[in-house]
Amino acid sequence: MSVAPSSLGTQPIGETSRVSEGVYQVKLPVPFPLKFVASYLVEGREGWTVIDPGFDYPPAREAWEAGAAEAGLDLDGDVERIIVTHLHPDHIGLARWCEERSGAPVWMLEGEIENARHLWDPERGTEDFVRYLMRNGMDAQTAGATAGTTRLGVRLPERLLPLRAGDTIELGSGEARVVHTPGHSDFHFVLHDEQRRLLFAGDHLLLEITPNIGLWTYTAPHPLRRYLDSLEGLRGLEVDLVFPGHGPLFHDLDGRIDELLAHHEERLSVMLAAFDGRPLTPFEVARRVFPDDLTDHQLRFALAETLAHLEYLADEGSVERLEGDLASYRTV
Ligand SMILES: [Zn+2]
Repeated sequence: MSVAPSSLGTQPIGETSRVSEGVYQVKLPVPFPLKFVASYLVEGREGWTVIDPGFDYPPAREAWEAGAAEAGLDLDGDVERIIVTHLHPDHIGLARWCEERSGAPVWMLEGEIENARHLWDPERGTEDFVRYLMRNGMDAQTAGATAGTTRLGVRLPERLLPLRAGDTIELGSGEARVVHTPGHSDFHFVLHDEQRRLLFAGDHLLLEITPNIGLWTYTAPHPLRRYLDSLEGLRGLEVDLVFPGHGPLFHDLDGRIDELLAHHEERLSVMLAAFDGRPLTPFEVARRVFPDDLTDHQLRFALAETLAHLEYLADEGSVERLEGDLASYRTV
């Protein structure tokens, strides 16, 4: 039996619904196969908190205007603070616009602010990333094409303020605790409202799809180890309703943790089974375990996800990494 989706938040993309007392979900379109990113609006005594403002392009801004009106929120006057769970463009993209409209500051985990400044530096080229992709087995043409899909022109907010793991912040009529949950990004966090038994999960736990856990040029090593540990760390939390960044809402936190742990166990054995005795580059492994036709955008995620799993297998001692101009792995 798999974890069932909630009957809450089932409105179509572009629309808004009330998902808990004083909490609204806006389903914002995104120009990726993910279909939508969920933004959450929480009504407080002094003003509203916006969690994960979404990807910046015109259809999302339109959905925002309609959604805010539906929730009874004036985007120019009522937003007290903007919170971003992690630096990915579908979460942070509209933070600058939201900040400009409302004048409210944008909060992220401290380390994520630093990483965002690096990742979204408009002066930064893609040469390092292309080299990284090629060292891991991609041909020059594919590497150039997939690296090109990272140019998204994300404009960071003017005022980025740091949250720290363990902080308690005011959220709506109650408060929520900041829990650092690395893996999907290094300083991803979730917000736990213990009293109301709510979890704002960002992309740490998703239903029907699984969060991408990738090893990138800008991430710290061992993202999969850190992801699995931070999933385990949420087990037993007082939660009745989970608000994810994509896909349906759900209620069974521990059940979903079990499923995600089992998913990665299975992916690790699939990666291991891709070897046939000879060394393979990470990209060769990626093409064996993701044999479908992938877009340039998807190819870099497939490789980063493969690298994270190969690194995990190497730490475990079931494969070893052979360094050279071209990296490769072999089973031991
Ligand atoms: Zn993400």
